[in-house]
Amino acid sequence: MREFLIAVFPGDGIGREVMTPCLTLLEAVVDRVGDLKLRFQILEAGAERYRETGVALPEEAVDAARSADAILLGAMGLPAVRYPDGTEVAPQLDFRERFGLYAGVRPIRVLAGVPIPLADPRARTVDCVLVRESTEGLFAARKHSRRDGDAVLDLMRISRGVCERLFVFAFDLARRRRKAGRPGRVTCVDKANVLPSMAFFRSIFLEVAERYADIDHECSYVDAAGLKLVRAPWDFDVLVTENMFGDILSDVGAALMGGMGMAPSADIGDAQAVFQPCHGTAPDIAGRGLANPTAMFLSAAMMLEWLGDRHGVHACHRAAVELTRAVERAFANGDLVGAENGGNAGTQMISDRVREQLMSALPLAAPVERG
Ligand code: ATP
Repeated sequence: MREFLIAVFPGDGIGREVMTPCLTLLEAVVDRVGDLKLRFQILEAGAERYRETGVALPEEAVDAARSADAILLGAMGLPAVRYPDGTEVAPQLDFRERFGLYAGVRPIRVLAGVPIPLADPRARTVDCVLVRESTEGLFAARKHSRRDGDAVLDLMRISRGVCERLFVFAFDLARRRRKAGRPGRVTCVDKANVLPSMAFFRSIFLEVAERYADIDHECSYVDAAGLKLVRAPWDFDVLVTENMFGDILSDVGAALMGGMGMAPSADIGDAQAVFQPCHGTAPDIAGRGLANPTAMFLSAAMMLEWLGDRHGVHACHRAAVELTRAVERAFANGDLVGAENGGNAGTQMISDRVREQLMSALPLAAPVERG
């Protein structure tokens, strides 16, 4: 029996609403797969916490997250709750910077039965991954911004060490995908024709590419990549890019998949990793039971897969696969349509359907000792 401690941050808005069914589902899948136990430590951080106490991310919560085996996060931040400089409270960005979570992994995979915006039948085959650098780039300006009279200068930081690790991560991912039958090709998305920082980014990409002779690579300017993501997204396999470009392109990716409620993500570093949906707290639908919890469920499956890889635990891999398959089966016949796509399925209905699929596919494992 392997046990893992999961630091859980429900956060704000719909983050809390999608976390509750996610924990229930995780417990169900773990019970059924067997040989595995997850302990959840619920921790509070975010905009509500800042409003109540003046601290968005308490140090005790950071320490607890650091010593947990993985971090599961709903969403944080509210437009009405801001720091004195006008920016939103965003502890999820603090995690990325403090724990060095340089690889923001955003799978863009279209599930059968989910309404999508592109009519071309090839859009149903889209299966690529965007790897977004998540600790520096233009987001570094959060800490490196300067006022100069009537102008504000936001600094873009691109550093060799972070880029090397990012590109190695992207090429290793492409290699794993090639073994699994995907093309295994890496596209560097940058703006090397205009910004010296981006020319540096590309030069490091090309250096790292030389170490991966078996993996195809190409470079694309971000504007061209944006066009192609809409016109022919099925041609991509692994995209790797700067923080802000990745922030924008991952929302395009979410749209290709049928909306923010379908898009999972992981922020991975060498020691810690945070798993959270791509979406924010969605104040426009919070409190109405309309949030699609699928992105949260798929992020939890990514967590199980990462734990399995990291600790060599087969039960984690099996749980990840079963959870993902339950989600896929829930949507497969096309009658489960989230509110985001004009349907009547809210948080409860989608959670119930995924849970039913899980239960019907997996008989209960032999009883396990409960601690
Ligand atoms: P942030 O800046 O914090 O990432 P955002 O401005 O990108 O947030 P989101 O909170 O991600 O905004 O929401 C964008 C849109 O997508 C909103 O209209 C919201 O209602 C919708 N949306 C986001 N998440 C979901 C979800 N899980 N289910 C249904 N709709 C969602």
